[in-house]
Amino acid sequence: MDLTGKTVVVTGSTSGIGLGIARGFAAAGANVVMNGFGDASEIAQVTAEVEALGAGSVVYDAADMSKPDQIVAMIENAEARFGSVDVLVNNAGIQTVGPVETFPPERWDLIVAINMNSAFHTTRAALPGMKRRGWGRIINISSAHGLVASPFKSAYVTAKHGITGFTKTVALEAAEHGVTVNAICPGYVLTPLVEKQIPETAAARGISEEAVKRDVLLAAQWTKKFVTVAQLAGVALFLCSDAAENITGVSLPVDGGWTAA
Ligand code: NAD
Repeated sequence: MDLTGKTVVVTGSTSGIGLGIARGFAAAGANVVMNGFGDASEIAQVTAEVEALGAGSVVYDAADMSKPDQIVAMIENAEARFGSVDVLVNNAGIQTVGPVETFPPERWDLIVAINMNSAFHTTRAALPGMKRRGWGRIINISSAHGLVASPFKSAYVTAKHGITGFTKTVALEAAEHGVTVNAICPGYVLTPLVEKQIPETAAARGISEEAVKRDVLLAAQWTKKFVTVAQLAGVALFLCSDAAENITGVSLPVDGGWTAA
């Protein structure tokens, strides 16, 4: 696919799925705004690596996705720099695993802010320009946990289910303006976010880390394979294609059959 001249903002793209999606869009020729936390030299390195993949420009914005003012400024800066934000990928996310009775309230607030509310703030800033230009793609990286629950992930499952409703609502509001709004719902992808959960889940369930991988993470993934970031980048690019023009408001599972069962 050729996205030369288009600009994509990918939140949380210094690592994992977001980085994979940034790579995919850069390779398709788009300008890419990268975002996320990390060590300054590592960020400079991944930004240069992503830029080397394609013909477009790649810039980094340090906006904190828990801070509405910074989120809006990120979209405004991207529009000022490139003239448009054509594709918005809401990907930044964090996780904490633990029983609801002892779940730290400040972590609840942060998870809901980053995993759900940030998509509202990016969308309200980017949608007017997309509507004006008559073309746009908003892609929310939700989760199988946007469709079904697992124990010990109350804040995460709540935020991801919220994204499912938000995706449907904005899809309807944007439908006549050439803007589609969809969510991708990955099963387990072996990224830093998941690797960090393995010891936490082992402690919460009182089982070994190997047992967490085999019996918890891949238990529901019928293919018995982790999803890859390259596959998710491919799905995000497909949602930007002409073939996907009439796909809007969906939460698309990419989960090895997990939510089919
Ligand atoms: P990750 O930890 O590898 O990457 C998360 C990214 O978000 C990083 O770039 C991080 O710096 C950034 N981030 C975190 N807090 C931020 C903040 N306040 N402001 C800006 N950026 C921030 O995680 P990942 O596995 O790549 O997850 C990416 C998304 O995919 C998340 O929304 C996650 O819920 C979702 N997801 C992941 C999996 C999986 O198995 N890994 C499965 C389903 C859904």
